[in-house]
Order: sequence, then structure tokens, then C-alpha cells
Amino acid sequence: ERSDVHYFGAGPAPLPTPVLQEASKVLLNYDSTGLGLTEISHRSPEANAILARTQTALRHLLDIPTSDGPEGYQILFLQGGGSGEFSAVVYHMISIWVAKLAKQRQQGLEQEVKRLRLDYLVTGSWSLKASQEAARLVGKEYVNVVTDARHGGKFGVIPAEGEWSRTKAEEDVALTYYCDNETVDGVEFPTAPSGKNLVADMSSNFLSRAVDIKRHIAIFGGAQKNIGTTGITIAIVSNSILPPHAEMADPVLLRKLGLPIGPVVLDWPTIAKNNSLYNTLPIFDVWIAGQVIQRLLEQAPDAKSPRISVQEAESNEKAGLLYAVLDEFPGMYQVVPDKSVRSRMNLCFRIKHGDAEAEKAFLKGAEGRGLLGLKGHRSVGGIRASNYNAVSVQAAEKLAEYLRDFAEGKV
Ligand code: PMP
Repeated sequence: ERSDVHYFGAGPAPLPTPVLQEASKVLLNYDSTGLGLTEISHRSPEANAILARTQTALRHLLDIPTSDGPEGYQILFLQGGGSGEFSAVVYHMISIWVAKLAKQRQQGLEQEVKRLRLDYLVTGSWSLKASQEAARLVGKEYVNVVTDARHGGKFGVIPAEGEWSRTKAEEDVALTYYCDNETVDGVEFPTAPSGKNLVADMSSNFLSRAVDIKRHIAIFGGAQKNIGTTGITIAIVSNSILPPHAEMADPVLLRKLGLPIGPVVLDWPTIAKNNSLYNTLPIFDVWIAGQVIQRLLEQAPDAKSPRISVQEAESNEKAGLLYAVLDEFPGMYQVVPDKSVRSRMNLCFRIKHGDAEAEKAFLKGAEGRGLLGLKGHRSVGGIRASNYNAVSVQAAEKLAEYLRDFAEGKV
């Protein structure tokens, strides 16, 4: 039974049970139309209403600036996951950078384009992957790793800004990229870093705390952890980097300069112009996300803006509760990342310094209590407890109790 288990998987992740109960109804008959939600056109009035409601709710929840001017932001729904956006952001920002360059200079572009730089903060497995994708698309000579946080091949810290090596000439920087929460390594930025044309991957901590949207030109994340079902990716994109406020380079010029042109389904201007309906959008996934976001809004009807702060407090409380038990038994549990950058979403730890037998016993005992999905990512091993929004306080308490019992030999 669903009520017998608590799932701490890293994604896909649990969804609120009432949302799934309602989802099972709309799959059969949406809004008394006699048709299920996966059966109707993404261009129907019903689908348009779902899309609009979900965008509006997200705007309220995160205080996303609304304006047609350059200070406003668009909310885009895409497919291709967080990984798709690793590529999308590169295609987009190099196009803008080249368009600017072409405006300043008529000649010698082949030489000048060599100044192009993409700045990446590599603080875990996902930002590493994103930087590798950028290098694959444009060539590694264009990618500047501002910081590589690995020590002895392992992630777990965020070096101080003073130690970073940013691209010196700001005008050369097409984007500064970071991953706000590293799902595999359990490393989370305490606050957003600075950087020109700042882009954030928030796949695994979206909707878990307030975000300073205005510091970013783009924020993206797959829906399958804190927001909804696998199948849609959300991107919050500044108008300042979209037409008509920004010029895009002519594809002919990009080709001539040896730079890549992305597929149209990843093209932010195309998706924005078509209000995310350029091609078939899985509207059921948008509906699920809308329900989850609406619930978060309703949790906090009178809260001071931003309304996500109620969920933020709960996330912090759950993470605090679990880290407290882990810290209480340092002989048994060793949290992987440094205390200053511990993730509130993915708690990564070892048992007896990575003793394989002890970790196996831990997982087995947990399963016996209906506590599932605790195995660490295959690339790093150990234990990982993912503390996403739909993991209840009660579930976190059960896990905390198990952690204590295991440490005290009561399992
Ligand atoms: N970024 C982060 C932080 C992730 O955790 C993940 C997936 N776990 C991705 C990107 C890749 O997302 P997707 O599988 O949706 O492509």
C-alpha cells in the first residue's frame, strides 16, 4: 500500500497523494468533457486554460517579474529534460553573443569570435555534465571552468569566490553557469553566485526556497523532482535575452563561424513566441505541475511575498531534523559534503566511512520499515536521502527515528 511506504528517491520523486487521486480521474474524464486529459488537443481551450493557470500560479509562488519589457520573464515548458537545457542554453547564449559582436564589427569576425567564453562553475556531477555538453557543442577552447570543486576526484565543497578564475574580459562572457543543487553529490549553493548572464540549473531544488529571479537571465529544471511528472522541463527566461529585446545571430553567420545551431524544439525564442505550443506539449504533465504549485500557493494564502517561503521553512525543518541525527552519531554517519554547502534536498552520507556491509545492512533495515529509495547514486555510492517537497514531515521523522535506532543498534 502507498500509505505503508515513504520514498526518498532522487527523481522521479513522490507526488502529493491528493494530486495523484485527482489525476487518475482526469485521465478518464477531464472537466466532464468525457475525454481524458492525455487525449485532448494541446491547442484546445481546456489545454490553454491549464497552461495559463499553471504559469500564473508559478509567477505568484516565486514572484516572477511580469512585464513585456526587458525586466519581465517568460515561463516556458519544454521537453528534453534538464539535459536538453544544458544544450539549449549554449545555443541561445552564443547566438546572442555573436549577434552583438556582428553589430560592433563588420570585418574580422572569424578572428574576433575566438574571444567567446562560456563560464562554468563545476561544483558537482550535473554542472560537470553541463560543462562537458558545452565543450562538445562549441569546442573546449570556448569553455572556461571558473572553478572545479573536485578534491581527489570527489565533490563536496564550493570554493570561495576569491579562488575562482572567471573570464577576465566581461564582454567575452556569453554566460555564467551554475547548478544550484547538485543531486548526486548533495552540494547546494547557500545563495546564488554572481556572474555575467547568470544561468541556473534548479532541477533538484526548484520550489524549495525563494529565488532571486532578477539576478538570473535563465533558470531551468526538469519537473520530475519537486514539481511533477517526468516529461516537462520548466525554463524561466528573461525578456532581456529574447526578441524583440535581444537580437539573435543569423544562422548563416553562425554556420560560417563554425558555431552550432540548435534544434528548433530547444529554441527559446521559438518556444516563447508560441507560448510553449510550438509542438505537442504533454498537457497532462503541465496539469500535474499546476496542481502541485496551486497547493503550495494555498498553503500560504496570507504569507508575505514570496509565498514559497512556507515551503522553504518546511524543507529547512525536515533537512535540519535529519542532519541533526546524522551529526549526533559521527562514528556511524559521515555526511559527504562540507557543512557550509549541505543540500537541503539530497542528503548524502556514508555509514562507517563507506563500509559496504554496514551500508547494505542500513538499506535492508530501512526497507523493512518501508523507507525506500535511499541508495546513493551509482557513481558515488553511499546513502542518499532525497527530501523533496512531497516527502512529509512525518516521513522525515520516521527516517530520523530509523537513523537513531540503527546507530544505537536497535535494528
Ligand atoms: N540537473 C540536475 C541537477 C539533475 O538532478 C538532473 C537529473 N537528475 C538533471 C539535470 C538531468 O535532468 P534530466 O534527466 O531531466 O535530463
